Amino acid sequence: MPRCSYEHMPSEVPMPERRPLVVANWKMYLTPAESRREAELIRKRAAVLARSVEAVVCPSFPLLPDLHAIFFKSPIVLGAQDAHMEEAGPYTGDVSVLHLQKLVRYVIVGHSERRRLHGETDEIVARKMRRVLNAGMHPIVCVGETAEERAAEATLEVVRRQVGAVMTELPVLELPRIVFAYEPVWAIGTGAGTPAPQPAPGEAAEIIGFIRKVASDAGGRRYAGKLRILYGGSVTAKTAAAFMEPGVDGALVGGASTKATDFITIAQEIADAAR
Ligand code: PEP
Repeated sequence: MPRCSYEHMPSEVPMPERRPLVVANWKMYLTPAESRREAELIRKRAAVLARSVEAVVCPSFPLLPDLHAIFFKSPIVLGAQDAHMEEAGPYTGDVSVLHLQKLVRYVIVGHSERRRLHGETDEIVARKMRRVLNAGMHPIVCVGETAEERAAEATLEVVRRQVGAVMTELPVLELPRIVFAYEPVWAIGTGAGTPAPQPAPGEAAEIIGFIRKVASDAGGRRYAGKLRILYGGSVTAKTAAAFMEPGVDGALVGGASTKATDFITIAQEIADAAR
């Protein structure tokens, strides 16, 4: 198995066992100047983050080198928003894990925007997950049902299928190295200002428990117990703590993470709630 080539974390720091995780997915929201400004602000306030939470920022690809320099020797970890399922080849506009492995520790795969807008199937997502793992990084695999699937009461079936596709590509020993993010598509912010609906209390934690069960059935309880599973869907500084129900290991945050102050508050809320 290749060693993690991520250079921010000294190699002696062990991969934490279910250390709470908060991930900023900046999508394509910020300009380069805004990205650098927010990253500088996050770095300045990073010291207030308890060591008990791992905070990851995923900017647009071209910003990765700049943010790598900004976060150097800070506790903030860098992530990428996607990677191609092949290592190299005729894939115009795509990014290989080889381009990422010296820059980032985490790579998001299977985000619903990639599934919906780029036609990514469960099989493609599973292959991307495998490619990221093989390159020594940690995939954050997004799963979740659409509004229509929810209305048809197909949530468990959809999530089982999406998680199952990943598990078939995953040697069980590697299970603790991946992260799942349960992101009900209907709860994800559109960036248009209209708030998306939110799951009822307990609902997200229940599906997250189900994901752990599917992983456990496929990979064994021992390994599934070490798997981190996040919630994502319009999490804000006000709502973050409420989502940290038992079994929930943190949050994947889109819109609200683009403001440094909000992201730091969310990370603190998650750290406090996990204590
Ligand atoms: C996301 O798209 O991963 C996400 C969670 O976005 P938002 O927080 O804006 O709903």
